[in-house]
Formats: sequence, structure tokens, C-alpha cells
Amino acid sequence: MLLIEELVKSYPMKGGQAVKVLEAERFEMKPGEKVAIVGPSGSGKSTLLHLISGVLRPTSGSIQLLGHELGALSEAELDRFRAKHIGYVFQSFNLLPGFSALENVQAAMGFGRKIPARERKARAAELLGRVGLGHRLNHRSHQLSQGEQQRVSIARALANRPAIVLADEPTASLDGANARQVYELLAEACGSEGAALLLSTHDMELAKRLDRVVPIRKLAPGRREDSAAYPHSLAQSV
Ligand code: ATP
Ligand code: MG
Repeated sequence: MLLIEELVKSYPMKGGQAVKVLEAERFEMKPGEKVAIVGPSGSGKSTLLHLISGVLRPTSGSIQLLGHELGALSEAELDRFRAKHIGYVFQSFNLLPGFSALENVQAAMGFGRKIPARERKARAAELLGRVGLGHRLNHRSHQLSQGEQQRVSIARALANRPAIVLADEPTASLDGANARQVYELLAEACGSEGAALLLSTHDMELAKRLDRVVPIRKLAPGRREDSAAYPHSLAQSV
């Protein structure tokens, strides 16, 4: 379902030098698989998720998602592809301020497809029920607790029946018990919707609850252009 090969992301810096921030020789995910990327701050976790969602373009290498080579898609095609096939959960929730839980989920629904309003609403309510917010449908974003806001964003990520949900440190803003609950809910909800899940986290204990943990190493500063010394920052393992 997802196949990454020989991926490199570098950023051009002042003075003409490029700084390499991510290298991945090969990384593969099967449909419905749940994988955690674990690595220290600055190791390139967010960068990797942005490359897979197509928000960032790689410097070189290939990302194939659902049989599409992302590099071959135009920006407009990528936008449509992303809206249709990828759900995203952010660390800071990013709900629409002033909108209710129901409206937040409905707003994400049916890009490029006409879905009758009643169907939209029913689907949004069903998803919110699934994440335990059946009693909070009409609460506005600021009237919800942090954990509740992240549950809304999980429902929103699943609104278009995506093939994969990308979640960048989805529980980092939540405290221990709350983080665990939301984490489990995210994995469960993806499972019952048949979506694969790729999330990043610092928390090894939480990471181990998924099907597979993939460590990501930070490229050594000052040697970043020396790819022979640091061949694979993203290792398939565990
Ligand atoms: P964290 O756990 O703190 O969120 P991360 O693993 O998600 O870290 P990234 O945000 O992917 O790390 O960043 C990886 C590296 O890329 C960092 O060293 C960062 O400084 C660098 N980087 C990110 N964006 C840019 C940019 N626009 N220009 C130059 N360097 C960048
Ligand atoms: Mg990050």
C-alpha cells in the first residue's frame, strides 16, 4: 500500500549548502497495518509524514501510495489524492474554531464528491459516537477538553474513509492516562474503518502497542552531506 525507496529530503540553506534531514532506504506498509515511527526531536518524523502526505516534495527517491507515484502527480492531483485517501491527525488538534464537533467532522467530508447533507451529518455523528463523543456533538471546539478535541480530530481524519491515517505525535499534548486512551482510540477507530495508521511518537511504551515500531535516527550534524557515513536513518525493524 505504501512503498518508500531511496528517499532523501534536504533543505537548501544560506550560502548554497544543502542540509540533509532525512534518508530512508526502504520502508513499506501493508493495508490496514499500524506502525509507529519513534525517534528523537529533529530526527525527521514530521518531515517523513509531510512527504507521505505530499505537503512536502522529496529531494530524491520514490514514494508510492496506493499504486500512485506521488512525484508523478501535479499539485492539484496531489490535493485531490490527499483529500480522498489520507487522514491527518495533528499534535495540536487544529479544529476549526467556533465550529461544533459535528461541523468540524462534516467540513472535512466529501471533497470532490457530492454527499447529501443528511448523509454527511449521519456519518459525522456515527464517527463521533465511535470516538465516545456522542454526547458532545454540538459543543464548539473551545468548549471541549483537550482529549475531546483530539477525539474530534480522529473522527475528522476518518471522515472520508481514507486508506491511511497519518498522525504526528497525536498524544503529545495530552497527559498520561488521557494520552493512552486517545492513542488506543485512534488505533481502534482506524482498525474498524479499515485504515492503515502511521504515527510518530517519542513514547516507546505507547509505540509498542501498534503492529510494528520503526526507529528513526537523527542525522549527525556537520556530517549531513556524508551519506556513506549515515546511509539509512530510517531502519525497518522490530
Ligand atoms: P520533533 O520530535 O521535535 O517534532 P521531528 O523528528 O518531527 O522533531 P522534523 O520537524 O521532521 O523533526 O525536522 C527534522 C530536521 O529538519 C530538523 O533538524 C529541522 O531543523 C530540519 N528542518 C525542518 N524544516 C526545515 C526547513 N524548512 N528548513 C531547514 N531545515 C528544516
Ligand atoms: Mg515533529
